[in-house]
Amino acid sequence: MASFQPIFGHCECGAVRFKVNQPSAEVYHCHCTRCRRLHGTLFATYAFMMREHIEIEQGEENLSTYRSPNARWHFCRTCGCHLFAESDRKPGVMWYKPAVLEQDAHPGHPKTSEKHIFVSSKSPLETISDDLPQYEGYAPADVSPTA
Ligand SMILES: [Zn+2]
Ligand SMILES: [Zn+2]
Repeated sequence: MASFQPIFGHCECGAVRFKVNQPSAEVYHCHCTRCRRLHGTLFATYAFMMREHIEIEQGEENLSTYRSPNARWHFCRTCGCHLFAESDRKPGVMWYKPAVLEQDAHPGHPKTSEKHIFVSSKSPLETISDDLPQYEGYAPADVSPTA
């Protein structure tokens, strides 16, 4: 992991910019109805990260937070782009959205940690056509977060 180079992401309007200093332990694609509605998309993709490895370099004051049961969702108040999520159940963890990374930046997670979750809730519009594991509901991480 020593070879991991920091990666960068930002919201659509550019007000909020962040840097990630460690590879993600896992990435998942969530098809639950909450994620679909929060993002207005067929599914939402998250990269698991310990909070201290994400530096919000610009625009932290421009983030708004929506609270749902057990979770906080941080998005740019100007453009509405969702960037981060935190769960009351996992203090110290902050998921970020790898979809907003700079072009060609990769979260660095082990490919075996990537999965689809809550596929039982997926939209009828959606066809999952990759070979990643699919779980009906939540699939707890089977790898420890990187230190
Ligand atoms: Zn923005
Ligand atoms: Zn979800």
